[in-house]
Amino acid sequence: MKIIIIGNGAAGIAAAESVKKKDTSISITMISNEKHPHYSRPRVIEFLSGKVTREQIIIRKKEFYDTNGINLLYPVSVKRIDVVAKTVDLDNGSVEKYDKLIIAAGAYSFIPPVEGSKNPGVFALRTIDDAESIMGYSKDKKTAAVIGGGLLGIEAAISLTARGLQTTVVEFFDRLLPRQLDKDGAAILRAMLETKGLKFMLPKTAVSIAPSGDSLTVNFKDNTSLTAGLVMFSSGIRCNLKIIDGTGIASDKGIKINNFMETNIPDVYACGDITEYNGMNYGIWPAAREQGTAAGLNAAGEKTEYKGSVMSAKLKVAGIDLGSMGNIEADAQTKTFTKQSEGIFKRVFIKDGKLSGAILLGDTADYQKLQEIMKKGGTVANPEELV
Ligand SMILES: Cc1cc2nc3c(=O)[nH]c(=O)nc-3n(C[C@H](O)[C@H](O)[C@H](O)COP(=O)(O)OP(=O)(O)OC[C@H]3O[C@@H](n4cnc5c(N)ncnc54)[C@H](O)[C@@H]3O)c2cc1C
Repeated sequence: MKIIIIGNGAAGIAAAESVKKKDTSISITMISNEKHPHYSRPRVIEFLSGKVTREQIIIRKKEFYDTNGINLLYPVSVKRIDVVAKTVDLDNGSVEKYDKLIIAAGAYSFIPPVEGSKNPGVFALRTIDDAESIMGYSKDKKTAAVIGGGLLGIEAAISLTARGLQTTVVEFFDRLLPRQLDKDGAAILRAMLETKGLKFMLPKTAVSIAPSGDSLTVNFKDNTSLTAGLVMFSSGIRCNLKIIDGTGIASDKGIKINNFMETNIPDVYACGDITEYNGMNYGIWPAAREQGTAAGLNAAGEKTEYKGSVMSAKLKVAGIDLGSMGNIEADAQTKTFTKQSEGIFKRVFIKDGKLSGAILLGDTADYQKLQEIMKKGGTVANPEELV
């Protein structure tokens, strides 16, 4: 049997590893349009800061593929999938035949349709190559504007600061990390980050970007503006759906998958950032790996049910520990329990007696414990003891 995996990111590599774990005799061809073997996308941020080299963020070196009998074709792009002939056409002219296909082609950085966003000096950050372009361009710059105050935007801003650029984060919402923090948590994080040199403008809506000398001026809807040496968008992701044009593979935001990572087309599976599972596009590394593992096992013939991933994030932002999980918006039915002390903010969200979300700022020691409670989903007897 031959399995083709499109994409060599977290989902693709997890799929390949689980296929080989199940049955080493299955032939695997992986196709990637990037010129590097599998690397840590989250660590592209560190690479941008200059603290680690490109080699240090490569997770699977070329030898891994050779040792495991995985045929890695790169850099080459899949142009077209034919689900009837069971082939994929590559942009180097070759055609690869499959018995099972796993689509793990990920996502791209979304740049909103802001006038002037194609100007030189405007970037987004997804790949090692993006980081290298930003590093090259920023050499003689002193300031940067990051549009988007989500996790990636804040982390990228810190990396740009580490490169010596005075960086301002611009956010459309009235608070930072709107997906991970509520208003109180966001205000505390903002104050912590300001002490580390970051500047913020929010809520602001960018409407155009215009060259001004060797800088760029970002104009906002409220007639204010910000001039910076370079502009980086961090405005979310969109699935790489172009790859399934004309195939009949069902999609909405992402490729629709069931609990077995199957698409609506026989022998075609999907996993990772390109998917939509129960209406949810996770866009996070652990979910991509979990889906990839399930896709690989199912494609290899071991029926394995995927029951969803916990939407969570645990990281260090500028040395500040941050953990967030579940739903952090409190509606009328949600009770919150909070503990706050110098540099620490912990809040849990309880809905229908169950843990529905949590914010841990400054101390993430309970992250794992809370995640397990949330996964189990039972009634919490003493919620005040969770903070
Ligand atoms: C800078 C950054 C920081 C992040 N930090 C975190 C973090 O701290 N924690 C966290 O949980 N998540 C983080 N994420 C998100 C996480 O990296 C992604 O969820 C994860 O990498 C998704 O893996 P994937 O394999 O689904 O997709 P991808 O990693 O996007 O891999 C898909 C691969 O398929 C290739 N491909 C696409 N189309 C084609 C084609 N037509 N032909 C051939 N190849 C193709 C792509 O080029 C890519 O290499 C971060 C993301 C970024 C960009």
